[in-house]
Amino acid sequence: EDSLTVLGVRVDRLTQRETLEGIDRLVALRRESEEPIECQQVITVNTEFIIEAQHNQPFRQCINEAAMVVPDGMGVVWATRYLGKPAPERVTGTDTLPEVARLCARRGYRLYLLGAAPGVAESAAERLGVLAPGLQIAGTYAGSPAPEEEEAICECVRIAQADVLCVAYGAPAQELWIARNRSRLSVAVAMGVGGAYDFLSG
Ligand code: UDP
Repeated sequence: EDSLTVLGVRVDRLTQRETLEGIDRLVALRRESEEPIECQQVITVNTEFIIEAQHNQPFRQCINEAAMVVPDGMGVVWATRYLGKPAPERVTGTDTLPEVARLCARRGYRLYLLGAAPGVAESAAERLGVLAPGLQIAGTYAGSPAPEEEEAICECVRIAQADVLCVAYGAPAQELWIARNRSRLSVAVAMGVGGAYDFLSG
């Protein structure tokens, strides 16, 4: 089997490379499709996520229904080993974001960076442009996970014609934000990335 359950939370046994291939497939599929395909969610699960999901049912449901759930952190990788279905490696948001940017640059996919403090997504975008020459940044916006802002933010992302959306509002807010807004986001893939912009810009 390709996935397992750790304390009721799904984890897919994917490498970073397979995760990127999965993202590539989802974007290509949406670009080729005549009919709109709903935004697919990628979640990087660490031990804090698993603890939060024990009492946060909507969060647990959103993880278990995501397109891909990858093990972010050695705690989760160890848990999968202990359960006899080892995940091959950790796939963190911070390590994966530059690789997502390289994938986007290579394939002409447009990347949108939502979240973090004002200015941080812009400097992360600049850094990603250096790491992934030719990258098309569809847009950057700090915003906030407040429900009042959702409609306007989704409109910005639609107008920007982004293919991949990264959201940095911290867990579980960013995952729940994506799950709530999937149907009105026009991107192929959305992924919560936690402190990844801060890391890149710092
Ligand atoms: N953040 C935000 N709005 C919020 C809460 C958090 O933009 O209402 C951003 C924060 O600036 C940071 C990221 O979300 O860039 C969360 O980072 P953190 O390391 O706390 O998240 P984790 O990696 O623990 O999920």
